[in-house]
Amino acid sequence: MTALEPSRLRLALRAWYRPRRDRYPWRRDAVDPYAVLVSEVMLQQTQAARVASAFDGFLYRFPDASSLAAASRGEVLREWADLGYHRRAVALHEAARIIVRTHGGTVPRDPAALRRLPGVGPYTASAVAAIAFGRPLVAMDVNVRRVTSRVVLGDEPEDGHDPQIGAAARLLLDRRDPGAWNQAMMDLGREVCRPTPRCEVCPFRRWCRYRGAGRNRRSTAAQKQQPFEGSNRQVRGRIVAALRERPSAGLSGLAAATGFAVGRIESAVDGLIRDGIVERRGRSFRLPAERSVVRSEREPERSSDSISLSAATRPKG
Ligand code: SF4
Repeated sequence: MTALEPSRLRLALRAWYRPRRDRYPWRRDAVDPYAVLVSEVMLQQTQAARVASAFDGFLYRFPDASSLAAASRGEVLREWADLGYHRRAVALHEAARIIVRTHGGTVPRDPAALRRLPGVGPYTASAVAAIAFGRPLVAMDVNVRRVTSRVVLGDEPEDGHDPQIGAAARLLLDRRDPGAWNQAMMDLGREVCRPTPRCEVCPFRRWCRYRGAGRNRRSTAAQKQQPFEGSNRQVRGRIVAALRERPSAGLSGLAAATGFAVGRIESAVDGLIRDGIVERRGRSFRLPAERSVVRSEREPERSSDSISLSAATRPKG
């Protein structure tokens, strides 16, 4: 095993990432902070391939924060397509309204301001700041954590080395292009350095301490996923899908449309109402239809911590 040299690791990862860079629609055009924010929220809890199929349509319908803020909740949920976890759509809608109201329609550049937006946690704030604005920050998702921990510490991230993993990730970070670095690390963790690693095709294999210690040959206990079939998440997803296709429906109509019993529909609908995803009208339910007029609290101007929004990823035609 060769001694760890961050500069050589960066070169290796850059070369590995180059042909993959344009694989997803949110990476194809000039960086648009609004598009980056949308993609990062969609990518929370949803696989990149599924996000790819919904992203262009969403951006076409809502090309900037103003058009998203002006839409009704129901319109946003309809365009959210089958991405699931609809609370993210609600949060993104609220975030767009705040962006229009307090940031003049431009996505803030400051990570602290990004974190104050609904649905934006430390990971998403760092990812948007790095990808959209070139800020030298690590977007530490589960994949980046695993790759970093294995390469630098020779250990699984579960072993409780959070401060060391953070320091190691900052050491490796490519400050010349932090956006590409973060996206490359995410891709590497998703495709190669998986729970069961594929070291033979990994650009880090020469330097990796985990591989050097032979740990990659042990079988790694993959996390057991909760079954989706019959889960509350599935019930909620089917209810939203049914309401996307009709103006409203009662409990028995939703039961017939989703294939679940009325009792399960009732409790899932309660949760959806609490989350602002569904609203009740008498004995019927529907996606929220009201639009609210969102006005900027200040003139939309180009400020030092924000840049103009444009729909760089709007599909052709
Ligand atoms: S060499 Fe293996 S363990 Fe190390 S980063 Fe690559 S895939 Fe992961």
